[in-house]
Amino acid sequence: MIDEAELERLAHLVEECAEVQKEAMKIVRHGWIGTDPTNGRVYDNREMLRNEIINLMGTLSRMAYEGDIFFSDIKLVSGSILDANPYMRYQSKIVKE
Ligand SMILES: [Mg+2]
Repeated sequence: MIDEAELERLAHLVEECAEVQKEAMKIVRHGWIGTDPTNGRVYDNREMLRNEIINLMGTLSRMAYEGDIFFSDIKLVSGSILDANPYMRYQSKIVKE
């Protein structure tokens, strides 16, 4: 079982992941700069994505601080980037240092 604090952190993680997804999809649909057709307001979708990624990183930092995930997992994250290389058609290949 998990306790309430762990549940809250996981809920926050899911929330921030969803917000990153939402902002990324806005860019897919409307581009880096979007304009609301109802009022002409211009949105910098790159900045909004950046803000949500920062939120997600903060959530991950809290989870690491609380021991939900471990800093050694950062190495795994780097490894997963390398593992994904063959499946990325448009990305530059990241090489291990
Ligand atoms: Mg957020």
